[in-house]
Amino acid sequence: MKLTPGANAPVPTSKMAVTLTWSADSAVDPQALLVTETGKIRDDKDFVFYNAPHHPSGAVVLTETAAARAELTVELTEVEPEICRIVITGSVEDGSFRDVRGLAVSVREPDGRNAALTFDIEQSEAVTAIVLGEFYRRNGAWKFRCVVQGWSSGLRGLAEEFGVQVDDEPEPPSAPAPAPPPSAPAAPTHHAGASGTASPRGNAVSAPPNRPPGWYIDPDRAGWYRWWQDGWSEERRQIFPPGQGVCERCGRPVQQSRFRGTRPCRWCDNDVQQIMQGWRAQAWQLLTTTGPHGPEWDALRISLIFHQVHPDTGREALTPLAVGYLERVVTFAFADSQIEEHELDEFESAVATLSAAANLHTAQHHIEELRRRMRRGRSLTQVRAGDLPRVQSSRIHLEADEIIYLEADAMHVKYLASGPKHTPGRIIASNKKLRFVGPGAGSELPWAKIVSITSEYGNVIVSATTARGGGTYQVHDPEWVAAVLEGALRVAKRLVLAPGQRDSRSIPPHVRAEVYQRDGGKCCQCGAIHYLEFDHVIPLSRGGATSVNNLQILCRQCNLEKGARL
Ligand SMILES: [Zn+2]
Ligand SMILES: [Zn+2]
Repeated sequence: MKLTPGANAPVPTSKMAVTLTWSADSAVDPQALLVTETGKIRDDKDFVFYNAPHHPSGAVVLTETAAARAELTVELTEVEPEICRIVITGSVEDGSFRDVRGLAVSVREPDGRNAALTFDIEQSEAVTAIVLGEFYRRNGAWKFRCVVQGWSSGLRGLAEEFGVQVDDEPEPPSAPAPAPPPSAPAAPTHHAGASGTASPRGNAVSAPPNRPPGWYIDPDRAGWYRWWQDGWSEERRQIFPPGQGVCERCGRPVQQSRFRGTRPCRWCDNDVQQIMQGWRAQAWQLLTTTGPHGPEWDALRISLIFHQVHPDTGREALTPLAVGYLERVVTFAFADSQIEEHELDEFESAVATLSAAANLHTAQHHIEELRRRMRRGRSLTQVRAGDLPRVQSSRIHLEADEIIYLEADAMHVKYLASGPKHTPGRIIASNKKLRFVGPGAGSELPWAKIVSITSEYGNVIVSATTARGGGTYQVHDPEWVAAVLEGALRVAKRLVLAPGQRDSRSIPPHVRAEVYQRDGGKCCQCGAIHYLEFDHVIPLSRGGATSVNNLQILCRQCNLEKGARL
């Protein structure tokens, strides 16, 4: 099975070999990082590499490094429980991945002839480290995801991102080597004077059939680049070599910078700014319609190479859009109050795909917060579907075969003509009934008498066929309490949610899109772009409709504050 970046597949057996192969004239080193839920390693022992080839648990061993081949062996049954991902990376000592030809990764049984999963690495950027892929736990089983994310800060930057402590060496005073000019993707088969000028044109065309779109040295015209995209086009531009006092992009005279090589001229800066303005609008349009994949998305990426925009400029431009898009994905996923397994996978795929094209590591905290929301949403959905927790309670007498699902501090609120009456106590839910136990007061309600459970603005609302026991409860974690009560109610009444059947709170997709667009992907009240939720202007419990006019985007904070005012 061939994987593309962002795609994942189940791992067939627990013992797997990850093999890297490439053509012989480069040296590639693989590494593995065993990371916890936090996205970091516990300590440097969790970094398996050339100088530390054995993980202490035995779960990962670097078994081979040869001229054109390297292998890591992974024993998934040995992985300690707190490790939730094994990130597989690769680095090169000399040159960059752009120069490594024919790099391919396969994941297979160590003695198996046939690879279970494979993917190729074609890196058009001059990065020296790449996250190749990762094993990750999902519902107790292991899956493998293809990532292919280049790391412009190299293995050191990559390792630090995952929490590896790198000893500081003093930087040489003349700073890092200048970035390669954006305009000249390496084309080693076409060095001037080599095959290109000497051989007939037909040969030059057929020689590099699989290279990525880009500007390459024109085999027919010395001193010019020519655009290649599945074949030579008629687009050409003159080569302005570095160090000649002219802009490498347009050939206008520029000042030399001692440290950063020749910078684009001011004219090009303006030109690029103009291009990026239109590009951002197009990128956002695509993200909110088809998402970050497909031919149009590829074309958008390639257009930057065509306009000779530096890859860093493209990554920078995409970063806020990518984060905004992921926030939107999560807000939309929650618009039907349930998070399905495939939504979790789609979120992770989007993160992996966008990581390859944007600097998502600069928004690490935001992404982690989104991931936590998705995972919690998923577990609430499972609880609501009847996958209930069990707790011990010593406070009450249980009936025979009674099982407790939840016990929590709660404030019962009764709305009387004289105003709300608050009674403190504890709410206890079992497979038989819902109890409220307060000092000198209490109630018991069998599930048969309960009609519905909802949570709204920090309260849990129990609707019952009798007044006693029903009503509003203020609890510390209303989403969790409501999920358990809903799950218990569903199990007790043997209600099954048919596949595809949606919650009554569900907001139809076109309504989500229209409201999100109208509110500009921001909280209507404070303008925040974090933790956004759909809110019913007139609450559902007060008869508000699920319509464009009665919906708005609020951040979590403003949503909770609104609840407190109601
Ligand atoms: Zn210029
Ligand atoms: Zn807000």
